[in-house]
Parts: sequence; structure tokens; C-alpha cells
Amino acid sequence: MAIKDKTQDATNPTDSHIPLAMPSREDAMKAVRTLIQWAGDDPDRDGLQGTPDRVVRAYREHFRGYDMDPYEILMRTFEDTEGYDEMVLVRDIPFASHCEHHIAPIIGKVHIAYLPTDRVLGLSKLARLVEVFSKRLQIQEKLTVQIANTLDEVLEPKGVAVVIDAVHECMTTRGVDKPGVGTITSHMVGAFRDNPATRREFLAMIGQR
Ligand SMILES: [Zn+2]
Repeated sequence: MAIKDKTQDATNPTDSHIPLAMPSREDAMKAVRTLIQWAGDDPDRDGLQGTPDRVVRAYREHFRGYDMDPYEILMRTFEDTEGYDEMVLVRDIPFASHCEHHIAPIIGKVHIAYLPTDRVLGLSKLARLVEVFSKRLQIQEKLTVQIANTLDEVLEPKGVAVVIDAVHECMTTRGVDKPGVGTITSHMVGAFRDNPATRREFLAMIGQR
């Protein structure tokens, strides 16, 4: 399967995220110092001395998805489905992402379903797929579509459905200040879009009406 990772394609204007020049680790630590000063604190006081180093390391962790290739992760599919053609559903895959507007956490769960044609995936692969796209600067709508479309391209199933239920800390901790407000997004492809019975079955299984 020769599938190109379109998310790494810098010529694609909607997904060109590859920085032209990666700043040095020192530059990144200096930027954190600046933000501490911008917050109104002293980056040289005891409790904050190690913070730029910790934040820079945390960034590599939070944004490791940029170094991951979703197509490589999904490459190994299982072709022998023994005729299984019912819905495959994985519910409640936890994720933590960061919103691209405030770099604030987005915490939630993803539900993924597909209707296989001749191939299925190992179930852990769906969690890896969520990881690839959530460990980037995101908006929830784009995260939903990227997961669904990548799965659709790789498996070529009869349909894909992705629902994300998440809380945005930029909404709950600043501005409108509404704790506990959840945002639900969904993207349906193929049978899940065209067949109301299939969509209803999926929504019932994840407990949404
Ligand atoms: Zn935000």
C-alpha cells in the first residue's frame, strides 16, 4: 500500500504545519522565561528556575503527534475478516490535546466506528490514530475529520463514524468561565452518513440520541 501522509505535505495549504526552521532548545526555554515574565513573575525565583526546562520537555510530549505518521501506524491491517461485516466500534478512547487558539488543554473521549469491507484493524491502532492527531495543536472539528478521513482512506470501509466529546479548558478557565461545558463534534462517512438506521445504531451504542 503506497499511501502518502498528506498531513506531512507542506504544499497542502490546509495542513502545512512543518516549521521552516526548528528553533533550538535554548530558544524555546528563553521563550518560556519570557512568558513567565509576561505573567508577572520572576523566572529566577526558586520555584521557577527549572520551569523552562520542564515546559520544553512537556511540549515534546504534548506535541509528539507531529513526528508520527498515521499511515505507517495503520499500515498493518488484517485482511482475513472471516466474513465479518458488522460494525466495529471502539468507545471512550481518552485523549488530551491542545487548542490551537490558546494552547490550552482539550480533554475528552473519542468514539470510532467503521463498517469493514475486507479489512479490519487491530483495536489498539485506533487509539494510536487518536494519539497521532490529538498530540498536535488542534481544533476539535479538525481532529474529528482527520481521524475519520484517515481511517476511510486506509481501510476503504463501507463507512466511518467519529464522535468526540470534550471539554476545552480555554472555555472553562477563562473568558466565559463555564466549568463542565462539553463540546460534541461528529463526522460521518459512507453508510453512517447515507443510512439513517446505521447512524442510529451507532449513536445508540455510544449512548447519544
Ligand atoms: Zn482555545
